[in-house]
Amino acid sequence: MRIEQIRQSLSDIGAKDCHIDRVFRAWTQGFPLDRGTRKQASADFLPLALRQALPRLEEALAGLARIRSEHPGEDGSARLLVELADGQLVESVLLPREGVCVSSQVGCAVGCTFCMTGRDGLLRQLSSGEMVAQVVLARRQRPVRRVVFMGMGEPSHNIDNVLEAINLLGTAGCLGHKNLVFSTVGDLRVFERLPQQRVIPALAISLHSTRAELRAELLPRAPRIDPAELVGLAEDYARRTGYPIQYQWTLIDGVNDSQEEIDGIVRLLSGKYAIMNLIPYNTTEALAYRRPAIEKVTAMTRELHARGVRTTVRNSAGQDVDGGCGQLRSRLEAGDSEKPLRPLLRKNLPLLPNDSGLE
Ligand code: SAH
Ligand code: SF4
Repeated sequence: MRIEQIRQSLSDIGAKDCHIDRVFRAWTQGFPLDRGTRKQASADFLPLALRQALPRLEEALAGLARIRSEHPGEDGSARLLVELADGQLVESVLLPREGVCVSSQVGCAVGCTFCMTGRDGLLRQLSSGEMVAQVVLARRQRPVRRVVFMGMGEPSHNIDNVLEAINLLGTAGCLGHKNLVFSTVGDLRVFERLPQQRVIPALAISLHSTRAELRAELLPRAPRIDPAELVGLAEDYARRTGYPIQYQWTLIDGVNDSQEEIDGIVRLLSGKYAIMNLIPYNTTEALAYRRPAIEKVTAMTRELHARGVRTTVRNSAGQDVDGGCGQLRSRLEAGDSEKPLRPLLRKNLPLLPNDSGLE
């Protein structure tokens, strides 16, 4: 269900924009649809035909996304396995410090070699309603101030729905625009479309390598934009919007943690309006990649800092409960759900406060 379809169906029964906005405000903030305001009960404001339609709408919206299971992490995060109306499963993550990470697709066509989500290709797009519904589920559990589109899927491959969701969250949902984060491997459509929106989100770019050939190997179906060109486009976006770019670098032992890459990052990012987030690889049994030793991560962070690149280390939230993108779903699909979730990592590994979300 797209948000525009919901708007249209309410308009068809005689609701005016102000009525529809009231219903959307209640929904996106996690309240019953007929909540009204402090000063005005909904019965004194919403037309009768709309009030009569609300119970059915409430039920339909609740059916968009339901929590199938919840896996609290040790860091204050919680991974939610979310079931959509057709039985498909996606992951949302409640992040520490009032954030939520939502999915935009079931599966993903980019097929990054290190990511569980990309393993089966794209299964289907999520509607804008299904994305907002994940935020609503989160808001019913905790306050939410920040929404990152960093769950399953590549937002640029479902850009109309993602932008529709962002638009509603940044208006009726009362979220600050810079607290809505669009995470992408980089696609020209992103740089064309996002600046034209009423609600302009912050941008996270998954870079992972400064070497074009290695990047093409790791992200096989990402658009072939040269890393230097990608950084140039992103820098324009950052200057236009006033929000720094959050670069993401999933750090894999022996793959993209070399001195050559450090030099490449310095060459591309020093002096840029940007933050480099190193995300030590969240190891999964299904793939042969490993995370680098903690000493190596620390040394890399220090060197980047010293050479003028603002760098943080972020651990994927809830990594003790299969925190990597798509890992929880893939385990369930493999029929493994009854097994207690096994801690994947030794404790005390995080370098900095654990937080895969963005400031
Ligand atoms: N498709 C978008 C958004 C979803 S993926 C994108 O790629 O930006 C969000 C981030 O999760 C990406 O930066 C990806 O590199 C990272 N990621 C995926 N699997 C991971 C794993 N096992 N360990 C650490 N980071 C992972
Ligand atoms: Fe898709 Fe992002 Fe996973 Fe790559 S890292 S396969 S783009 S979800």
